[in-house]
Amino acid sequence: MSTVLPSVSDWTPLTSKLGGTVILPDHDAYDATRAVWNGMIDLRPAAIARCKSVEDVQSAVEFGRQHGLELAIRGGGHSAAGLGSTEGGLVIDLSEMNAVQVDPEARTAVVQGGAKWKDVDEATTAHGLATTGGVISTTGVGGLTLGGGIGTIMRLYGLACDNLLSAELVLATGEVVTADSTSHPDLFWALKGGGGNFGVVTEFTFRLHPMPGLYGGMILHPRENALAAIRHFRDVALNAPDELGIFAALLHSPEGLPIVAYLPWYVGTESEASFSIEPLRTFGPPMADLTAQTPYTVEQTSLDEGFPPGMHVYWKSHFLSQLTDEAIATIVEHANQAPSPLSATLLETMGGAVARVPVDATAFPHRDAAFNLAIITRWLDPADSDVNIAWARSFFDAMQSFSSGVYVNYLGVGDDSSRVSDAYAGATHQRLRQVKRQYDPDNLFHRNQNLLPA
Ligand code: FAD
Repeated sequence: MSTVLPSVSDWTPLTSKLGGTVILPDHDAYDATRAVWNGMIDLRPAAIARCKSVEDVQSAVEFGRQHGLELAIRGGGHSAAGLGSTEGGLVIDLSEMNAVQVDPEARTAVVQGGAKWKDVDEATTAHGLATTGGVISTTGVGGLTLGGGIGTIMRLYGLACDNLLSAELVLATGEVVTADSTSHPDLFWALKGGGGNFGVVTEFTFRLHPMPGLYGGMILHPRENALAAIRHFRDVALNAPDELGIFAALLHSPEGLPIVAYLPWYVGTESEASFSIEPLRTFGPPMADLTAQTPYTVEQTSLDEGFPPGMHVYWKSHFLSQLTDEAIATIVEHANQAPSPLSATLLETMGGAVARVPVDATAFPHRDAAFNLAIITRWLDPADSDVNIAWARSFFDAMQSFSSGVYVNYLGVGDDSSRVSDAYAGATHQRLRQVKRQYDPDNLFHRNQNLLPA
């Protein structure tokens, strides 16, 4: 059954109102602007509204609603499922709303809804401050924060959403509201994990923390020792202090060698970090030790080159409440069979400050997860899609019995509504659907990991 898309014959009511630009299919910039990070996504929106102000966002929401257009909100465009675009609908592109204002006395940052983490990190570290953001600097603040927000310093300072103090958003009615712990508290709760379901967030206010710099980087080991290397990683990670963020990855080096990478990041100096990081060096010896004292902004951009836009990406994931030897054996066995050397298997250590937030305090409920497993399948030639997707699915299935849920921001192409409910424990899911009913009863904002109004 084919869907009949609404067609708009006259865009003037929108183009004449918008301070920003409306990009239609005949615009020179249309193809470049419709592209999102995942090269598998090839959607052709009816128009892309590049907003410059809250009023622009209101105009776009109202125009889309009046014309029955599907709305896609685009922050950084990093959704692996391609939710920052739409086929035949209207993209509300926030990329030009990227200003960041820091109040060093109050230790807060006011961040526009289309900023990327690079914008935030540069502005905050100028004052010796930071807040938790993603590990790739081009990821959007919007999508990452609204889904939770995993990052290098989360074990010390909490998830990105745990540092959210307030949010200004345009609702489905076009009304602008500010949600915080006293004004619209239910909406504020839902924004901390419930994704882009409730409106277009035009401004986030974050709490900031001292940032003396990081000691860390990468320590590389050969893949033939993967089983022991990942067990060792688990043991170090489970005993790590909050200052140490630590991931492990099974991937290929730029030269094509299969490796295990330890990725430790310690908030502090080399002398403070050495006790915690030393065990990662002594396992081995390592093929390479690339740890160093670096400014936060340098470390936060160090992995960017490895995650360029445009590759075909199929992303699967599980939270793991524990990492047993059996789970590790399954991970290593499957990672070693990856058909594409561009694919990576990532283990992110949760815990610390993330685990100390009560489960019902935010809409991110996975406070007891010890690790987050990401199967990031990447390839260049569309002809290789089937073999890569089959590998990811079989890896994912083999890990199902170890799973304690899924991170909503790591859902990808093909993950359906049952996976969205896996992203929220029962009570959280119900409460989110109640908030959805209150703020978006007609589900105008459904191009997201969608919550149906209760
Ligand atoms: P978009 O595709 O623009 O948007 C994604 C979703 O968020 C859409 O549903 C959109 O509607 C909604 N949205 C975005 N902005 C707004 C807004 N202002 N108001 C309302 N809704 C909005 N996640 C982590 O937690 N930690 C990481 O370190 C991390 N690293 C990543 C690295 C890469 C290379 C990629 C591709 C993803 C990474 N992610 C990470 C996952 C990331 O959190 C999600 O992909 C997130 O959705 C990206 O947000 P975005 O704004 O860039 O995406």
